Amino acid sequence: MSLTEELVVWTHEQKCLKAVESLGIHGFTAVYCPAPQDAFDYIVKAAAEAHSIGFGGSLSVAGLEVEAQLRESGKEILNHSRKELSTEERLEIMRRQLTCDLFLSGCNALTLSGELVNIDATGNRAAAMFFGPRSVIVVAGRNKLVEGTVQDAVQRVKNYATPPNAKRLNFNTPCAHTGFCSNCNSPQRLCRVTTVIDRKPRFTDLHVLVVNADMGL
Ligand code: SF4
Repeated sequence: MSLTEELVVWTHEQKCLKAVESLGIHGFTAVYCPAPQDAFDYIVKAAAEAHSIGFGGSLSVAGLEVEAQLRESGKEILNHSRKELSTEERLEIMRRQLTCDLFLSGCNALTLSGELVNIDATGNRAAAMFFGPRSVIVVAGRNKLVEGTVQDAVQRVKNYATPPNAKRLNFNTPCAHTGFCSNCNSPQRLCRVTTVIDRKPRFTDLHVLVVNADMGL
């Protein structure tokens, strides 16, 4: 690794550690992961006692490629993202995710002061993050960190996450064509549910893995 690369990693590390510290003060179980493999190992260990595991449709979690290992170890996998599913089958899996043992999700934005900010179209992922599943693990890559307010985090989502997600998912929104948010009223608008989790929810065991790597959008 060159000196420049080392310094870039170190700089990101300081931001990640600041977020971990803030999350800890807010009651979350927050863990710094130097690399995605550390997040993978954490999830496999945490899943040992779980029978059912829900996947919230996160690119960050998908990028860890942990699903196959969990499936092979006999877990019931609740993943609504499989292409062959009908709409009704997808909705049924989403409902069952709300009461699974362990829910795995990404996060659209995480402030250095310890707030998780998410914007959903359906709301199933955001809902499962704060009540229902016995445990939740949120994987947040360093690219999700925001030095600023919750409003800055919302802007991060609308500027950098939703437009490419709309394009990826073939939603016919203005941002899917321009790359910019126009606060649309499109029938296919993705931004319908905005949540801020600013303290650990009372009855949810919520872990946040802050990874020193770019993950997801
Ligand atoms: S409000 Fe509309 S244009 Fe803006 S990011 Fe959401 S879906 Fe895209």
